[in-house]
Amino acid sequence: MPSHPVTVPCQYRTGKTLGSGTYAIVKEAVHIKTGKYYACKVINKKLMEGREFMVRNEIAVLKRVSSGHRNIVTLHDYFETTNNLYLCFDLCTGGELFDRICAKGNYFEADAANLVRTIMKAVKYIHDSGIVHRDLKPENLLFRTPAEDADIMIADFGLSRVMEEERFHLLTEICGTPGYMAPEIFKKTGHGKPVDIWAMGVITYFLLAGYTPFDRENQHAEMEAIIAGDYKFEPTEYWNNVSQTAKDFVSECLTIDPTNRPTAAIALEHSWLADETAHFVPDP
Ligand code: ADP
Ligand code: MG
Repeated sequence: MPSHPVTVPCQYRTGKTLGSGTYAIVKEAVHIKTGKYYACKVINKKLMEGREFMVRNEIAVLKRVSSGHRNIVTLHDYFETTNNLYLCFDLCTGGELFDRICAKGNYFEADAANLVRTIMKAVKYIHDSGIVHRDLKPENLLFRTPAEDADIMIADFGLSRVMEEERFHLLTEICGTPGYMAPEIFKKTGHGKPVDIWAMGVITYFLLAGYTPFDRENQHAEMEAIIAGDYKFEPTEYWNNVSQTAKDFVSECLTIDPTNRPTAAIALEHSWLADETAHFVPDP
């Protein structure tokens, strides 16, 4: 219980902070009438000055789309005060994928394929709804419960388009790593659905190896590596037990030209993901 509970417009009481990201703080919140727990995302309205209309519009879309898929965090409620926006989502209690990867070191290939397939299906659903996530990364993938086999949930999407300018600024100024961003974002030649597939390639690499493909000594070098598509499946000791099919999947997602990158539907047909019952045997 928080020492100084704050009442979010009448109906909710907020508790501990669950996390913070690029432009928001997320707090646990209990709906007073029902006693149900939610995750309440608090966004400072200063960050969206002049774009309030777009943000409200986007929230309406988010509310509709988010309730339609089991692996997407549902937006239940929305309100605002003079200074803040409040978005109430499903509460995920299982933590971020990022922390699970760090705790495990890396995932077994079959487990990684199952996770990537589930996330890719949800990405396809988002894309089919006309939305680009734009910020897919293990910090935005949450487990519904602490159970080992808990559902993986996509969080933090929809608003990035309208928050973009601010976000890009904050990303490069404060948050450091551009690690999951596609080359065309830096080249400013587009940032449509293919950016999510690129990010899925980086996430898959991270799941398999326990480190990211474009990690460099500084942000500038990292950006250059991304633009050049400069990564390797090395050091080999981390990749010896990974199949060629998995590496091929990663390579396809990390196609530099977004027009040649697979769509979510095509990625799901890749042999690494297509057979849900497959067991992976590493190459000799
Ligand atoms: P930002 O847009 O600022 O990145 P996010 O929506 O990603 O905000 O939320 C920031 C962090 O808060 C997440 O990385 C996660 O740790 C936590 N969080 C977000 N949504 C939820 C949720 N529905 N349940 C539990 N924790 C959440
Ligand atoms: Mg986030």
